[in-house]
Amino acid sequence: MSIADVAWEERGATLRSPLLEGLGLVAGFTTRALGSMAGSVFPLDEQARNRETLARSLGFAGVVRTKQVHGNAVVYVGGFEGGSAPLDLWPVADAMWTDRAGVLLSVAAADCVPVLVAAREGPIGAAHAGWEGTSKGVTTALVSALVAAGADPHALAAAIGPSIGPCCYTIDEARAAMVRERGEGDHLLERDGAIVFDLWSANEAELRAAGLRAIEVARICTRCGGRDLWSFRGRDRDGRYGTQLAFLGRPR
Ligand SMILES: [Zn+2]
Repeated sequence: MSIADVAWEERGATLRSPLLEGLGLVAGFTTRALGSMAGSVFPLDEQARNRETLARSLGFAGVVRTKQVHGNAVVYVGGFEGGSAPLDLWPVADAMWTDRAGVLLSVAAADCVPVLVAAREGPIGAAHAGWEGTSKGVTTALVSALVAAGADPHALAAAIGPSIGPCCYTIDEARAAMVRERGEGDHLLERDGAIVFDLWSANEAELRAAGLRAIEVARICTRCGGRDLWSFRGRDRDGRYGTQLAFLGRPR
């Protein structure tokens, strides 16, 4: 099964994954029209309100958040614990999974890759994979957690959401050396004397190696894709930028 060419569609100022929504999940990515969702330079209470509004509009009580640190830790989420939990109580992890309906998982991103994984039944998960998380195998770690929870990797489907594409993502030699050291050198390209890290192909390869067959790549670049999205690399001169939220949940 390959539906990589099916475009993510815009609905209610969000972009949606046809693959995962076709399996009965709520799965997508916010746009700037819904406001900044996490981190960055916008007021925290404003962003908490934006997340609450988003969750309600999607039919969920709230959005589960973690403190993202560009690592490969995966946490289990047993339920929505309330949107007003102070930031310092959020678990430190770049991937999360749940086996509960009614829980809306999320990944904050403004260039980093959101990877959403689910099947028609069983556990679901989301990972935040920038260059560092990708090279540390956060996507592999997420699928391992889902398989340990009983998921059949051949039945899992994954969506690689909007994020900075190989069109725009150049990295310096020091970073490239670390990527090579961590075994992801196949996804480094050279273009016009610069080194490009293809985060889409790197995460797709991790998913395939983990046994997944149905993988959808949105191929929407946050920097040059022409959508209403913030990009960390493409931020304003004053450094201001917001953060979108990728979301995945099984409706009750
Ligand atoms: Zn681009």
